[in-house]
Amino acid sequence: APQTLPVGLGERGYDILVGTGLLARAGALLAPVLPTRRVAIISDSDVAPLHLPALREGLREAGFAILAEHLVPPGEKTKCFAATQAALETILGAGADRRTSVIALGGGVVGDLAGFVAAIALRGLPFVQVPTTLLAQVDSSVGGKTGINLSLGKNLVGAFHQPRMVLADTGVLGTLPPRELRAGWAEVAKHGLISGDAFWEWCERMGPAAVAGDPAALAHAVLESCRLKSAVVAADEREESEEGGRALLNLGHTFGHALEAEAGYGGGLLHGEAVAVGLGLAAALSARLGHCAQELPGRVIAHLQSVGLPARIGDLDRPFSATLLLQRMRKDKKARDGALRFVLLKGPGGCFTAGDVPAEQVERLLRDE
Ligand code: NAD
Ligand code: ZN
Repeated sequence: APQTLPVGLGERGYDILVGTGLLARAGALLAPVLPTRRVAIISDSDVAPLHLPALREGLREAGFAILAEHLVPPGEKTKCFAATQAALETILGAGADRRTSVIALGGGVVGDLAGFVAAIALRGLPFVQVPTTLLAQVDSSVGGKTGINLSLGKNLVGAFHQPRMVLADTGVLGTLPPRELRAGWAEVAKHGLISGDAFWEWCERMGPAAVAGDPAALAHAVLESCRLKSAVVAADEREESEEGGRALLNLGHTFGHALEAEAGYGGGLLHGEAVAVGLGLAAALSARLGHCAQELPGRVIAHLQSVGLPARIGDLDRPFSATLLLQRMRKDKKARDGALRFVLLKGPGGCFTAGDVPAEQVERLLRDE
């Protein structure tokens, strides 16, 4: 039986189900929470051949009608207006009405796009997330943010739209390229650090087994990550707090976004890899500023490296200029009037936002690393 995590988000709240074999039982699991047994599925052309047949069968077995199966090209470029319009035209052209549900089967790209489509089609259709990457299971499918990119920047257009259910089938992670699985672990480690000693120490102990594919370890990582993220989001659903709440989920991301931008999107550095280095740097900065124990950065770095992630700039296969990274961080949407904002650590379970970190300190850290 899947493990069930009730989430108090959206108008009615919903459940995140974590386990294996969920796609094959999707119809029975979804029927009680959807208005009708009519659905449209959005997936990408890499995921669909691997996992759409099981989902299709699981739905048909429970008497569901699949009005449309809309496949998009894999990759970040798919989060655009043209792909949004194409999906809307397929779904509405197939006869979807306001009681038809949209199911996202895929990673964060498909989840963000399909969620946005569900949010705006006929001013809002019921939505279901079936995340198929570790990143999507532990991060992007939780919290209700949906959206697409502009050439001006990522995720600049979107809507909050909570799903009726999330089916996190850890069995589907078996087909994920190992590098993608490891990249997703960076967000798990981030959640461990935000959560506190219990989950963080579990990550240190079980991370290597999880990224090697141990099903029980993966299920625990997904469940505890969703527990942490949904609790943080429930206290600040619309990201209204600048310092607490959802902002704390940016741990490691000020550095991470700068590294990603410098590498160039699609430039060989996955988001999770950039975040892993960002976590190492955030811990190192916290120690330098005297906020946490001096051994914390070493622990964070050792853990990330133990799962095969880079954790310091020196672990990356190219150099990064401290000056250019600093410039990127000054432009980060979280920076204010040139003052650098970071989520820092007092220790596992002790995150806070610091809005006044001196640029010289950060630059020195980047040069030393
Ligand atoms: P992704 O969706 O691009 O998936 C990565 C790759 O793995 C793709 O090529 C995909 O086809 C493939 N894939 C997916 N599942 C597979 C499987 N089971 N087997 C084999 N291949 C599989 O990337 P991602 O890392 O899942 O998501 C990244 C996106 O998530 C970004 O666009 C980011 O902005 C978004 N995001 C959103 C939120 C949010 O709160 N909404 C949070 C974090 C990230
Ligand atoms: Zn992230």
